[in-house]
Amino acid sequence: MSSAVGGIARELAGLPGMTQRLLALHVSDGHGRCRACTTPGTGAAGAAWPCSLHFYATAAEQIYAEEIRSRRADERARR
Ligand SMILES: [Zn+2]
Repeated sequence: MSSAVGGIARELAGLPGMTQRLLALHVSDGHGRCRACTTPGTGAAGAAWPCSLHFYATAAEQIYAEEIRSRRADERARR
């Protein structure tokens, strides 16, 4: 993961509920397009899926899960 992607994903990971909302909205329309990333004004599916927002939200979820895991490991180590 590049540092730019990691930075954006880390920002998202710090916003509670944001990644879940993005992942719930940015789903495939079944034709390889994102349902949420529509062409402005037309409502037609625009971006190819997985779109960049779905990509960042997935990365953020992974970072978040990783942080929870390492926090738990820290707590265990301190006992
Ligand atoms: Zn999208």
